[in-house]
Amino acid sequence: MATEKVDGFRLDRIGQLLSTAYPELALTPGLDALTLRPFAPGVLLHSDGRHHRAGAQAGAGGARGALHAVRALAAAPRSGALPRQRTGSAAAAPRMRTGAPLGSAVDQARLGAALTRLAATPAERLLRRPEAPAAEALAARGLPARTIDGFLRPLLAALLCDPDLTSSSRCADLALRAFAAGRLCVPEGGADVLPELLARTLPPGTVHTGVRATAVSTTSVTTAEHGEFRCRAVLVATDARTAAELLPGLRVPGFHPVTVLHHTTDEPLPTGASLLLDADRGGPVAHTAVLSAVDPSRAPAGRTLISSTVLGPPPDGVDTAVRRHLARLYGTPTGRWETLAVHHTAEAVPAMRAPHDLRRPVRLLAGLYVCGDHRDTSTAQGALHSAHRASAAIVSDLGAGSLHAAEPVRTAQRAA
Ligand SMILES: Cc1cc2nc3c(=O)[nH]c(=O)nc-3n(C[C@H](O)[C@H](O)[C@H](O)COP(=O)(O)OP(=O)(O)OC[C@H]3O[C@@H](n4cnc5c(N)ncnc54)[C@H](O)[C@@H]3O)c2cc1C
Repeated sequence: MATEKVDGFRLDRIGQLLSTAYPELALTPGLDALTLRPFAPGVLLHSDGRHHRAGAQAGAGGARGALHAVRALAAAPRSGALPRQRTGSAAAAPRMRTGAPLGSAVDQARLGAALTRLAATPAERLLRRPEAPAAEALAARGLPARTIDGFLRPLLAALLCDPDLTSSSRCADLALRAFAAGRLCVPEGGADVLPELLARTLPPGTVHTGVRATAVSTTSVTTAEHGEFRCRAVLVATDARTAAELLPGLRVPGFHPVTVLHHTTDEPLPTGASLLLDADRGGPVAHTAVLSAVDPSRAPAGRTLISSTVLGPPPDGVDTAVRRHLARLYGTPTGRWETLAVHHTAEAVPAMRAPHDLRRPVRLLAGLYVCGDHRDTSTAQGALHSAHRASAAIVSDLGAGSLHAAEPVRTAQRAA
């Protein structure tokens, strides 16, 4: 969740897509100060040189919640506009244009009804559905092939960072449900605002960055350069591979590679604050957006920031291939755009192949705990939810009173 600051730009390493319907963004202490910047409703699909708005859900409270977000942002742009409980039931017609890639008006109405139903389905019920690879399950949903190929496949690939849709159909349903029930969004100011807000809820001096743990036990953490810290309990909150090094026996999942590219130009672009997907899959870009239109704080005045995500192993000469694809997607030459950053993360997102356990144990034994996206779903929501489960286990083991009284890191004694 790191954000690079370069010449007035704020450049995320991650692929940007959160949902206003992620419950943990509303439940986690400290994140009430988070301002979410929503994309325009639904997504913009590029097909045959034209743009088509798709999936702009108005049922099940999604659009109302999103509207709430927009109004709150307009009223108080910097003061925390996270929409909380969405209770609206007004069901306006889905706002989609006719034609490829969404099919006929009837096809679109079926898609709108399916998304509305999904938004209203409790998550627990989705988790009881039979589980299969998402690509297989999609074909069995009774939706027209062009709706699946032109809209659902590119959308799910973007939401799951999984171009081949090998992920569990249950995880795909959860991702689509979050899409239908809320609005895709980015944190104002950059992804690193989330960990900064979390750290701010703790007493000053509690969090130490740049300290690498090399070994853990129930009573101590050994670090690379700062010796050993004694403690009453250890929670390992690293990526999956490091967690398995620190806690031998922990499973290491497969990973989806992700490459994020940031470009700038001084020309305005026609897509506004939309998330743009290529229904024709005519190049390496899975999704792209004029991020400075979604969140103006990410670019200096007068500059346009375009952020794009490539899923899977990137092609040779990724920047050239991406610029060529972006020229078609935005309908404008990109040869003079400036490349600000190309970030490739080989082990970006833990794969969630079926059968996927969304509630992997976070308590290994009394005093030793683990959390992170690899214990839950591979999203910021999953990482935060696993952290909630782990902290509940710690509170229960240590006793709430003693946990509140202790300040483990500040009071830890350096033993070496
Ligand atoms: C390129 C990319 C694109 C993504 N796109 C999206 C998206 O669009 N939407 C979405 O919801 N999610 C996305 N994700 C996933 C999301 O970023 C992760 O799910 C989330 O950051 C996981 O949080 P975490 O706390 O489990 O792990 P991390 O965010 O990986 O944090 C682990 C921390 O542990 C630290 N650490 C590692 N080893 C050690 C050690 N030995 N000692 C001490 N500290 C250590 C690391 O420095 C890091 O700060 C993306 C991720 C990547 C990489």
